[in-house]
Amino acid sequence: MDATSTVNDNVDQAELAKFGALAARWWDPNSEFKPLHDINPLRLNWIDKHVGLPGKRVIDIGCGGGILAESMATLGADVTGIDLSEKPLNVAKLHLLESGQQVDYQLVAAEEIAKKQPESFDCVTCMEMLEHVPDPPSSVRAAAALVKPGGWVFFSTLNRNPKSFLLAIIGAEYVLNLLPKGTHEYRRFITPAELAAMAREAGLTVSEFTGMTYNPFSKVYALNYDVSVNYIVACRKPG
Ligand code: SAH
Repeated sequence: MDATSTVNDNVDQAELAKFGALAARWWDPNSEFKPLHDINPLRLNWIDKHVGLPGKRVIDIGCGGGILAESMATLGADVTGIDLSEKPLNVAKLHLLESGQQVDYQLVAAEEIAKKQPESFDCVTCMEMLEHVPDPPSSVRAAAALVKPGGWVFFSTLNRNPKSFLLAIIGAEYVLNLLPKGTHEYRRFITPAELAAMAREAGLTVSEFTGMTYNPFSKVYALNYDVSVNYIVACRKPG
């Protein structure tokens, strides 16, 4: 069973169940998780460019099967990966046997671990998760509490506008079949301005945005200025 909302209200069991049902295919680069595999080297480089990952303590919130968490460990970071869906976490743990990497995977809410280990991490990552939680500002506050003063916090999510509806839902789920139908709900998408406001309210300064784009003809993903659909924001805790 997945962790229950008795510990924390910022969780939607139906969302966790979606990821649980697909978990066995998490590391198949041609599965529903292909987009995460394809964007991973790009986002990993972008994070590393800001943080300098080797030797840093990192926590990945909503790590799922561990695509990003394990790759940060491969670059030499000391990584903790947390999620509230048990099956993806089990897949993540099993994959360590194959890769020989080390990641400390835990079934715990960000809000919980933030209470126990405040200001403990040089870097916090929270990718493609905020659009699946009921209270994104609560996740942003937890991320801000977990990072050390001077440390980095990264969030990625989907923007909310007619183009993102067309590309991220109609295109990805109904035309190109990149993602299962029902993966994303438009009303949960978050604009860059909304995410920046959440970060500032949590005491972070917003440093840089980058867009992540997909060209369906060349099938190439890229990082660039275009934040209209999928994007990452880099934030810092002052000090
Ligand atoms: N961050 C990973 C996985 C993204 S998929 C990556 O980008 O590669 C979204 C993940 O968020 C799933 O693993 C899901 O179980 C997790 N998730 C959803 N709600 C959550 C919550 N409230 N707390 C922690 N993880 C959550």
